[in-house]
Amino acid sequence: MNEALRLECPHCGETFLLAFDTSEGSAEFTVDCEVCCRPMQLSVRVDDDGQIESAEVVEE
Ligand SMILES: [Zn+2]
Repeated sequence: MNEALRLECPHCGETFLLAFDTSEGSAEFTVDCEVCCRPMQLSVRVDDDGQIESAEVVEE
């Protein structure tokens, strides 16, 4: 199931939404900011019910 993550870019400070498929479970991956196009590392945790527990930007 797709959920919308609300993320704050560590580079430009803008917030944007990212679709995340919770059926894949917890994940760490890199996305590009939709505003400034710079990459950021994300850590998303999904609980046993398929709900997003936390989504945070791990700045590198
Ligand atoms: Zn940005």
